[in-house]
Amino acid sequence: MSSWISEAAHGYGNTIEVTGELFRCESKFQKIEIYETAKLGRLLLLDGIIQLTYSDEFAYHEMMANLPFYAHLNPRRALVIGGGDGGVLRELGRHPELEVLDICEIDAEVIRAAREFLPQTACGFDDPRVVIHIADGSEFVRGRIGYYDIIIVDSTDPAGPGEPLFNADFYAGLRQALRPGGVIATQAESPFLLPDVVGRLNRIARQVFRRVGYASIQVPTYPTGMIGACVASDEVDVWQPARPVEPELAGQLRYYTTRLHSAAFAVPAFVGRLFDGGRG
Ligand code: SAM
Repeated sequence: MSSWISEAAHGYGNTIEVTGELFRCESKFQKIEIYETAKLGRLLLLDGIIQLTYSDEFAYHEMMANLPFYAHLNPRRALVIGGGDGGVLRELGRHPELEVLDICEIDAEVIRAAREFLPQTACGFDDPRVVIHIADGSEFVRGRIGYYDIIIVDSTDPAGPGEPLFNADFYAGLRQALRPGGVIATQAESPFLLPDVVGRLNRIARQVFRRVGYASIQVPTYPTGMIGACVASDEVDVWQPARPVEPELAGQLRYYTTRLHSAAFAVPAFVGRLFDGGRG
C-alpha cells in the first residue's frame, strides 16, 4: 500500500509517493522521519523538510564536498558542520590526501537514525579518519583557530537549530577556523524560492571573505529543483579548480566534473544580481 507525503514550506510543495515508514522520532532538536519511497529510494525529512532522497543525493553531496576540495591547492584537514546523514563525509572520504575528517552535528539522533536506515549516505561514518563532535557548529568553530583547510556547512534551513549558521558572526568564525588558503562551502538555498536568503548570504560572506561565489546544483527533490553552494576564500579563486579530478576518481563520480566546477558558477542573470555576478 502506498501513500503520498508532502513537504510544504514557503508557499511551495513537493509530493512523493512512499511505500513504508522506516523511522520516526522527535529528538531534542527536530522531528526525524525516514521513508521508503516508490521511485526515489529512501527519503529523510527533518521537521517535514526533505533533506535527501537516495535517487539524487549524489548531486548535492559531490558538489558540496568537491567544490572546496578542488578549489583548494593542497587540502589536508576537513570539517563538516551539520551533515548528519553522512553524505558529504562519504564524498570527502574518497580523497586519501585528507588526514583530518571532523564532523560537528548538533543532533546525535540524526546520525543514529542515518546509520541504521540510510546506509547509502551513512557509510561516510565508517571511515577511520572521521571524528564525530556532537555540538552546535556555531560554537564549535570558535574553538578551532587556524586549523582546517576546508569547511563544509551542510545545514538545514535558517530556522530551528540551523538559524545560527546563517549570520555574520558564524561566517567570521569559519574564517578564523581556516588555515591560510582555506575554502568554505555552505548550503546557500534556492534563489527561486528564497532570494532574500541568497542575497543575505552573499552580503554576509562578502563582509568576511575576499573571494565569494555562488554555484548552482540541480537536485530534483529540493524545492524548485535546485540549490546553491556559497563557496568562499580569502586567497583562492574558488570558481576554478586548482587541480583536475584524478582520472580514476572521475570514473566513480556521477555529478562533479572539473569542467562543471567552473560552469556551476555561471549563474542566470537574476541570481547574478542577488550574488554579485555569482563569482568574484
Ligand atoms: N542537505 C540537507 C539540506 O539542505 O536539506 C541538509 C542535510 S543534513 C541532515 C542537515 C543537518 O544539519 C541536520 O542533521 C541538523 O541536525 C544539522 N544542524 C542544524 N543546525 C545545526 C547546528 N547549529 N550545528 C550543527 N549541526 C546542525
